[in-house]
Amino acid sequence: MTHDKGQTELSVVVPLLDEQENLRPLYDQIRQALDGRYAYEIIFVDDGSTDGSFQVLEEFHDADPNVRVIRFRKNFGQTAALSAGFSHARGGIVIAMDADLQNDPADIPMLVAKLREGYDVVSGWRKQRHDKALTRRLPSRMANWLISKITGVKLHDYGCTLKAYRREVLAQTKLYGEMHRFIPALASWSGAQIAECVVNHRPRTAGVAKYGLGRTWKVILDLITVKFLGSFSTKPIYIFGGLGGLMALFAFLLGLMVISQKVNAGVDMSGNPLLLLTAVLFLTTIQFILMGLLAELLVRTYHESQNRPTYVIREILDATDGRGDNVNE
Ligand code: UDP
Ligand code: MG
Repeated sequence: MTHDKGQTELSVVVPLLDEQENLRPLYDQIRQALDGRYAYEIIFVDDGSTDGSFQVLEEFHDADPNVRVIRFRKNFGQTAALSAGFSHARGGIVIAMDADLQNDPADIPMLVAKLREGYDVVSGWRKQRHDKALTRRLPSRMANWLISKITGVKLHDYGCTLKAYRREVLAQTKLYGEMHRFIPALASWSGAQIAECVVNHRPRTAGVAKYGLGRTWKVILDLITVKFLGSFSTKPIYIFGGLGGLMALFAFLLGLMVISQKVNAGVDMSGNPLLLLTAVLFLTTIQFILMGLLAELLVRTYHESQNRPTYVIREILDATDGRGDNVNE
């Protein structure tokens, strides 16, 4: 982790994989948008490129002290690359964007202005999106709808990389899988203010797209994880116990039915398939509750091993804290 020298206002984080031809124009456009307006740095994160992208970045770095380059040993994925960039960022404001020129650096000042109105995250919205309709835009629409519903944080375009964040917000989120897109939801759950801005989106003109339809399924799996962690990570027994309770209720009702069929209609109990279902549901109940208890153990390890509190503090007013002489007797 690097320390803020108190100079950099803005860190632009650009993850990239094999984008050799896009880098020069991207760099020029970023400079054009930011030079003279902000004290900024650009952090390029080379996520294991094999096409000479790194050599181009090296040239930028040699000529420009505002350029920092992080090079991964192999391809770890866009989320990991963003995460590395975020943890090295020195600016109070962090901008993330793609390297393929689909995001437009000219939008950055607008996002920054919006953030300075008092928001913690400003998310880009690619209203006129230039990607394939069937394999990209349609699944993305459905995913955005679902994510908005499930997280309760309504955004049109979770998948847009171009977003502006206050650095403190990023410091609290650890990223896995495809999770960088969920930062606005995670941040909002911790009390951050989220805004949205329509941004320009351009077709990819060089290099190849790295993702297809398969990503949507991963995003949905991540959504389930995020929701689970967000809602139940401190009390998993409530969700497992809740399911267990439901199963117990079914088992009880079915059991009653089996007995009443025997009493009223003389139906043989041992030959009644409902008796078997009762037994299965009863076992399921026990399983769910045991699973809940196991999850409780894991949660304690999770929070305590990382020293992760189960709450987020905004500020503390305490005259004796830090500044005063804390005389310990
Ligand atoms: N990217 C990356 N690592 C990967 C895949 C992609 O850093 O494993 C970068 C890629 O170079 C680009 C951005 O992530 O800068 C978005 O990728 P792409 O344009 O292929 O995705 P899409 O625009 O279709 O979301
Ligand atoms: Mg792209």
